[in-house]
Amino acid sequence: MTISKKTEYDVVVVGTGAAGTSAALEAAQNGASVLLLEKGKSTGGSSNYTEGLFAVDSYLQKEQGIHVSGTEVLKEEVEYSKYRADSRIWRRYVDDSADTVKWLKDQGVEYEGVQAMGAGEATWHIYKGMGNAVIHDALQPKAEKLGVELLTLTTATKLHRDGEGAIDAITIKDVKSGESEDIKTKSVVLATGGYLNNPEMIKNLTHYDDSRLIPVSSGKGTGDGLNLAWNVGAKQYGTGLAMLFGGYLKDPDEPAFKFMASQMNTAAGQQPLLWVNEDGKRFVDESVVYNFSYAGNALYTQNETYSILDQGVIDKMAKDGNFMGLGVYVKRGEKMVKLQDEIDEAVAANKPFIFKADTVEELAQKMGLSVSQLTETVKDYNGYCENGVDGDFGKDAEYLVPVAKGPFYGFKLNVGAFCTMGGLQVTPENEVEDEKGTVIEGLYAGGNDSAGLAGDTYGPNMPGTCVGFAFYSGRNSGRNAAKYVKTEKINS
Ligand SMILES: Cc1cc2nc3c(=O)[nH]c(=O)nc-3n(C[C@H](O)[C@H](O)[C@H](O)COP(=O)(O)OP(=O)(O)OC[C@H]3O[C@@H](n4cnc5c(N)ncnc54)[C@H](O)[C@@H]3O)c2cc1C
Repeated sequence: MTISKKTEYDVVVVGTGAAGTSAALEAAQNGASVLLLEKGKSTGGSSNYTEGLFAVDSYLQKEQGIHVSGTEVLKEEVEYSKYRADSRIWRRYVDDSADTVKWLKDQGVEYEGVQAMGAGEATWHIYKGMGNAVIHDALQPKAEKLGVELLTLTTATKLHRDGEGAIDAITIKDVKSGESEDIKTKSVVLATGGYLNNPEMIKNLTHYDDSRLIPVSSGKGTGDGLNLAWNVGAKQYGTGLAMLFGGYLKDPDEPAFKFMASQMNTAAGQQPLLWVNEDGKRFVDESVVYNFSYAGNALYTQNETYSILDQGVIDKMAKDGNFMGLGVYVKRGEKMVKLQDEIDEAVAANKPFIFKADTVEELAQKMGLSVSQLTETVKDYNGYCENGVDGDFGKDAEYLVPVAKGPFYGFKLNVGAFCTMGGLQVTPENEVEDEKGTVIEGLYAGGNDSAGLAGDTYGPNMPGTCVGFAFYSGRNSGRNAAKYVKTEKINS
């Protein structure tokens, strides 16, 4: 019995997230026979949870009268990356972005509209039904209709190169039976979503304290695509970046993803309110939360971090709305009507991330912080609130809300992360390069497996760039892989 229907395909795509599914569909639309592999039971990866993609000059932005300059985006993003991003890749990405929005629409994707995130640009094209609908109601059925063979619970374990170094086969494995098989192919697209869920790779390739990093993702990003490519000589490049998104609560009894829509998690981790470290001292202008990746970096400057809320601010967020949301999961300005109930439940269940007390002194004791230091920090902070001037870090007066009305709450903050980005150096055609910078013929990578988009910190102020890049680079990989195979066939 064989795992796949055929023994040879023009293109084999590994991974069924935004990048892999787009690559498979685009390759098929360009005439290639395609095998699409997914190691999990279900398809879509972390792309299922996404809310929207980046683009400039799309038909939707035109309808809404929004103009964002592609060249300005390119300049801003490359500068933000400290010139570690590849300007050529950004140029292609920006120029193709409107077409990607339209292409998705043509495959059946429906949009809610375009919006900004925080103070950023209006580049975020929000699709209906999240990424889940994009993959399962549009791209995947279209691809299967065009003859793409999809195998779930099937992983890729080895790439093969011929005597001249070009890809000529891939070993695939049935996850359930353990049976393996070599498939002949001239082209492979790697789109396995990065390595956030591989603790060893996080330890070895990044500087993050993994005990405080909370992956909030599909759980399947174990670096497979990177290891497959590195094992055949691809260059290890652009590792070290996880998309941090600021403070996140850690509940040992629940999956991390449960907190995405939690008002308590948003109130604790994402508001520009009082934060202290393990010494009970402030350490940053908390309005850093308006760039959630910077917020993650700031939290990592300390060994432990806590946010302190009083009853006054909790009541205010219930009545008037929050300051900062968490994407479309908890919208900015949303009235937090469930907040008190969520907090009460967590306190009643003695959850390890929350502390409640009638006085600041008692709160410090419960949290294991210095009573005198926390009391002094709160006293100083309340003084800043009264004067409207943050004497420590210059936080804007509108975020200076006193910690005055009991009961008081302390939340232990960890750092949430959505994905890693990078690992393989690719050309603007998404071809994978080896240690010498030479293209490995027939090998392509897209989405979070490919580098070129960012430096050491994700740029959330241009929202949607991560999944937008997955769609774009997946398509680019699929199109170029199909073209390459066609040329090879003509030449042979
Ligand atoms: C909650 C959440 C919300 C997000 N929202 C946004 C957003 O709104 N906008 C944005 O720009 N970004 C967002 N992101 C980031 C976004 O998820 C990623 O940028 C994007 O999904 C990357 O797509 P991908 O195709 O590279 O990887 P994935 O979607 O993770 O897909 C990789 C797939 O490869 C499969 N795979 C792995 N190894 C193998 C193997 N050996 N064989 C076969 N299959 C394999 C995995 O199982 C998985 O299905 C969000 C992330 C999260 C977690």
